[in-house]
This record gives sequence, structure tokens and C-alpha cells, in this order.
Amino acid sequence: MTIINGCPVSQKSYVLQGKAKASGLWNLFMPKESDPGMKYGTGLSNLEYALMCEEMSKCPLSSEVFNCQAPDTGNMEVLVRYGSTEEQKRQWLTPLLNGEIKSCFGMTEPKVVSSDATNIASSIRRDGDHYVVNGHEWWTTGALHPDCKVCIFMGKTDQSAATHKQQSMILVPMDAPWVKIIRPLSVFGYLDYPSGHAEVLFENVRVPLGNMLLGEGRGFEIAQDRLGPGRIHHCMRLIGNAERALEMMLERTQNRVAFGKQLAAQGTIQQDVAKSRIEIEQTRLLVLKAAHMMDNYGNKVAAPEIAMIKVAAPNMAQNVIDRAIQAHGGAGLSDDFLLAGMFAWARVLRLGDGPDEVHLRSISRLEYKKHNLAKL
Ligand SMILES: Cc1cc2nc3c(=O)[nH]c(=O)nc-3n(C[C@H](O)[C@H](O)[C@H](O)COP(=O)(O)OP(=O)(O)OC[C@H]3O[C@@H](n4cnc5c(N)ncnc54)[C@H](O)[C@@H]3O)c2cc1C
Repeated sequence: MTIINGCPVSQKSYVLQGKAKASGLWNLFMPKESDPGMKYGTGLSNLEYALMCEEMSKCPLSSEVFNCQAPDTGNMEVLVRYGSTEEQKRQWLTPLLNGEIKSCFGMTEPKVVSSDATNIASSIRRDGDHYVVNGHEWWTTGALHPDCKVCIFMGKTDQSAATHKQQSMILVPMDAPWVKIIRPLSVFGYLDYPSGHAEVLFENVRVPLGNMLLGEGRGFEIAQDRLGPGRIHHCMRLIGNAERALEMMLERTQNRVAFGKQLAAQGTIQQDVAKSRIEIEQTRLLVLKAAHMMDNYGNKVAAPEIAMIKVAAPNMAQNVIDRAIQAHGGAGLSDDFLLAGMFAWARVLRLGDGPDEVHLRSISRLEYKKHNLAKL
């Protein structure tokens, strides 16, 4: 047993990673579109990966086992698409693809409304042959992992530029002097070790000029593109979680008797099962449509569908898992079953990668635009 951040961690995922890699079941997330020569991944389309990701998510370990875990997946894709130099790729992309290191992504700050990225207060200032990075970040997923070696950090390089040209993204080594982990953050008490979510302070961290991604002022552009695939992956996982919750509910209610009949024979339980099946199917179809759009028309054209699933999938999963918890009674809230953890994660994803309201706003603006109505 290894102890990481004071928490016992099983070696199981490391052993399974070796087996997955040897079988070629590795970096399945890297879409054909970003990697046409299959240099980095297995060349699956988003649509093909959607079905695999759903299956993988039924077991909490598996994203990690197949090197398909967030936020590394999004970060690797950024490095493939926007890595400016071969050195950036050699130093960070190759070890990430090999599963030798981990990474994090920092664009959420405690002091500002971060779902509006124009509010970012973190700064990246040029000083000779270095950039000086300052920022107070939180909810930086993965930062606590002992293998986390790099952060893709978003900050402003030019406050006087046009609103969406002020931000840049830079690679900050996590072992650079003055990168300080302040504390781990828990979600309803879950610390999500070994990766965890951290509050992190970057105080006058000096980073070589060569660590800039794509170029100064291009950070917003990268963020828009990075979040598309990341969001669809989360939605695929949520569908798998919802399926697993429904399976658990079916099993539990067949095996337990109350007031002289199986729970499964109660009309209310049957209705909950039926509603769950309808909601899962609806959401899966929308996710598959979004994946098809990304594959055939690109992430930008698929943006409305991505926004729709980003709202639909966590809300659906939250409802389905909640019904399964109810059918399990008190057991459903305990950590003896997966349900409480899955519920917490579905709740997180109504906020993570943008809160529901922000996506609803984008969807509604597009609807008005389609009808040539007022620009809101
Ligand atoms: C477990 C977890 C992991 C995370 N991992 C990462 C990570 O790795 N890296 C990272 O950078 N961030 C991460 N986040 C942060 C996450 O992306 C943000 O919490 C999210 O984008 C919301 O930003 P905020 O917390 O600043 O909330 P705010 O932006 O302050 O928003 C608060 C609320 O205001 C309301 N609101 C905002 N805009 C609108 C609007 N237009 N219309 C109506 N209401 C609105 C919404 O109800 C919203 O929930 C993570 C968060 C969690 C909980």
C-alpha cells in the first residue's frame, strides 16, 4: 500500500495500466481529428470513443487505467494542437501520453466569478527571457497528485488588448519555486485522492519564454477549444454512471421485500426505473449527436450540441442516481455502494467546465440568433 497525501492508495491502477498499455488500450480519447496520423492515440472518432468511455466509466478506476482521465486528456490534446515547440512536446506531452506524469489546469480563481473568463485576475508578465506568473487558483484538479508535474495556467498578458485577446496559456512546472499548494478541497467530504482538487498560489513564478502555448493573447481561443472535448468526455462518463446506478437499482429492488412484496413490484419503483431509462436514452442520443457533429463538422460547429449535453447529462445523471439512492435506502448514502460518490460527481459537473446557467445562456442566444432576433 502506498500513502499519498496521507491517504492509502491501491497499487491496482498502476498494475492495470501496464496491462492496458500492452493490449493497445491506451490514450483512446485522442480523436482522429486532432491526430490524423495516429501518432499519439488509437485513432478513434469521438463517436467511437463515446461508446467506450460510457463502458469505462462504470468502474471508477478505469479512466486512469486507460490513460483517459481528466484533466490530462484535455491537456494532452492542447499540447498536440497548440504545443508551440517540439521541446514542449518532448518535455510534457510524451511523458503524459506514456502515463509517466500527470498535469493540472488552472483558470478558476477564488476571488472572481471565473465562469466568465474575461474576469481572470492572474497575470503573466514578460521579464527578459522569462515570463513572471502570478495567480491564486483553486479547484485545480490533479494538482495534489505526486506525479503532477505541469500546470496549464491561464492569465492575462495584456490588460489593454481587446477583451478576448488579453488572456494567454503557459506551461508552469509544478516544482518551480513559489508554486505553493495551499490546501486540498473536498466535494461533500470527498477528497478524490490521489489526484484531488487544490487551492494553489503562484507567486512571481519565473517560467522560460518557450513555455507559452500558441502565442500571447491566444489563451481564450485555446480554452474554447479545450473545453469542447473535455465536456463531451464528462457527459459520456455520466451516461455510464447513470447506467450503472440503474443496474444497481434493478438488482437491489429485486432482492428485497417490503410489506409482503418485492420492492421491484412497487409501482413507484417501476415508474422510477422507467423514467430513468427514458432519460438515459434521450441523453445518450444527444451525446452521440454531439460526437457525430464534432467528428464531421469540428468542435466549433458542434458548440451548441456540446452546450446542450453539458446541461442535459449531469442533470439526468443526478436524477437517475438520486432515484437509485432512494431505492437503496440508507445504504445508498453510504460509501459501501458507489452511488453517493457518483451523485457527488454528477453534482460537480453542473458547475465544472462551466455552470448550467452559462451553457443555457449560450444555447438561448443561438436560438435567438437563428431567428434573427435581438442580440442579447
Ligand atoms: C470538483 C471540481 C473540480 C474542478 N476542476 C477544475 C480544474 O481542474 N481547473 C479549473 O480551472 N477549474 C476547475 N473547477 C472550477 C469550475 O470550472 C468552476 O467552479 C466553474 O466554472 C464555476 O466558476 P466559479 O466557481 O468561479 O463560479 P462563478 O463563476 O462565481 O459562478 C457562480 C454561480 O453564478 C451563476 N452564474 C454565473 N454566470 C451566470 C450567468 N451567465 N447567468 C446566470 N447565472 C450565472 C451560476 O449559478 C454559477 O454557478 C472545478 C470545480 C469543481 C467543483
